[in-house]
Amino acid sequence: MYCPRRFGLLELNQDWAENAFVVKANIMHERVHSGMHERYSKEKIELSSVSLYHDGLDLYGVADCVEFIRNKTGAYIEQLGDNFNVNIVEYKPRRPASGTVNETDAIQVFAQKLCADHIWKCKSAGYVYYGDAHRRVKLDFNEEYDKYYSLLQKLIFEMNNVLESGKIPDRIKGQKCSGCSMKNVCIPQNKKYTVRDLVKEECV
Ligand code: SF4
Repeated sequence: MYCPRRFGLLELNQDWAENAFVVKANIMHERVHSGMHERYSKEKIELSSVSLYHDGLDLYGVADCVEFIRNKTGAYIEQLGDNFNVNIVEYKPRRPASGTVNETDAIQVFAQKLCADHIWKCKSAGYVYYGDAHRRVKLDFNEEYDKYYSLLQKLIFEMNNVLESGKIPDRIKGQKCSGCSMKNVCIPQNKKYTVRDLVKEECV
């Protein structure tokens, strides 16, 4: 959703590059996925690195954290032998400058929610946890379910088209690239060279 060209570079070319934002996010996720946040108590079970999937939508991913809150009216989770409310928690290193949750983050959590609902036959809630502010924000998927569902379907369709075509999409006009770690991989490949440009570069 952030950039179709970036998706093509990652998935078709297997390109990868890191910048400070990526490194910061990696450190945070390493900590989360190390299991040090896993907790078991009477009221709540918190698991990290939870594999999620949805057969119908052909989705697979690994959630940062899934919380199971014991509740008699919640869904019966066979593997845990009790009824629970289910919360998906996605970790992000910093709050967006806009003050509201980025739509790219929200759609990521929504995809995880659909997977969790599919696996545990529940109605899970979604949160984004911001490391810099030490606070979490609840996403209102009940109000905006249809909007997110059609957006996710559109994105899955577009991603499948890129994968099937085998062609890396061109840069979209107006694409914001300043925070993108792939800039050095992406932009030279998109630049048109003339023989004169190449000779000039060789001479510098
Ligand atoms: S540099 Fe810009 S166009 Fe290229 S992958 Fe990154 S965001 Fe997309």
